[in-house]
Amino acid sequence: MKSKYVYFDHNSTTPIDPRVLEEMIRFFGTEYGNASSRHKFGTLALRAVETARVRVAELVGVESKQVVFTSGGTESNNLIIKGVSSRSSPGKILISGIEHPCIVKPAENLKYQGWVVEKIPVTNSGVLNIKTLQKIIDSKCKIISVMLANNETGVCQPVADVVDVAKQYDVFVHTDAVQALGKVPVSFKELGVQALSISAHKLNGPKGIGALVLDKRLSINPLIEGGGHEDGLRSGTLNVPAIVGFGKACEIAYQNPTKIKKNVAPLIQALDEKLKRMGATIFGCNEKRIPNTSYFSLPGVTGETLVIELDKAGFAVSSGAACSGNKAGPSEVLEAMQINTDIAAGAVRVSLGISNTLEEVLRFCDGLEKIFNRLRTMSAIA
Ligand code: PLP
Repeated sequence: MKSKYVYFDHNSTTPIDPRVLEEMIRFFGTEYGNASSRHKFGTLALRAVETARVRVAELVGVESKQVVFTSGGTESNNLIIKGVSSRSSPGKILISGIEHPCIVKPAENLKYQGWVVEKIPVTNSGVLNIKTLQKIIDSKCKIISVMLANNETGVCQPVADVVDVAKQYDVFVHTDAVQALGKVPVSFKELGVQALSISAHKLNGPKGIGALVLDKRLSINPLIEGGGHEDGLRSGTLNVPAIVGFGKACEIAYQNPTKIKKNVAPLIQALDEKLKRMGATIFGCNEKRIPNTSYFSLPGVTGETLVIELDKAGFAVSSGAACSGNKAGPSEVLEAMQINTDIAAGAVRVSLGISNTLEEVLRFCDGLEKIFNRLRTMSAIA
């Protein structure tokens, strides 16, 4: 019997939970109203949107009015960087050296408006260096953005410590929690940040919907202007089915907060043990990671070759950040970690989801070992 193709690329995107899909379908069909309309159809849509807003808010521990729906993590990150910087005279912005391109690019573009943009370095194991932050922060600093968990390594970042340092200078802190939500607890209040970005498709919700969660005292400029939806921060007719799906995905995660840890962490542990026996380098291995991610490199084999061979063997994994499109070249995250280029070239990311099983992971280990041995023999002959 042919084994089924196995999906191990959940940091890239996740399948929709059937319960999420079920709630969404109504809003593509009979309940198609515009949430801004005053009649019955509109009222039904608005009610569904507000229920979803409460569910999203609950998962990150805020009031529903703090949740601004956007088209996803990319828009939320752009909105916060551009929306805050455009309300202030130029100053200094600090971002970690391992941010997603949708933070890096808008931040770097601020240079053209007179801002000073600096990256806070990370250690070899991918954790933000707080001591360096303490050295480079000063009274000119106005914005800090540090992600909660890295999309490639899965390593969790000390965001609450960043906030402690930032408070001494009265600096605004944003965190990109896109990869953390649904995998580790995310509390806006406990983190102490002023803004937080999230995205539905990373926690078994639909693509193209996310949110920016804001401190009530914060004023920002919108990216998209028009009819004044979302308190004037994001105009455009609300994507009701997607918002409903996002809300449901958050409700499911809220009702069972430790499910991913309980189900998936033992599988990653089994994988990591096998990888170590095979001589792999596992990035951020001894740090706190989101429980579903293992990012590794095997000696003498490129990540790209392994991804192709694993695909042929029936496993979907990634050789780097899928969100960076078709960009070739070494991972910027591993560069920031100062990983040797040969080791970085071998990087492969396995990111598990709630429905993966130990049997699939063991089959993967077996397949990976066979591929690795074959490729090594071939390179020895060549
Ligand atoms: N931030 C991080 C850390 C991500 O991993 C991603 C996507 O992978 C994004 C932001 C972008 O989110 P979206 O795909 O919702 O635009």
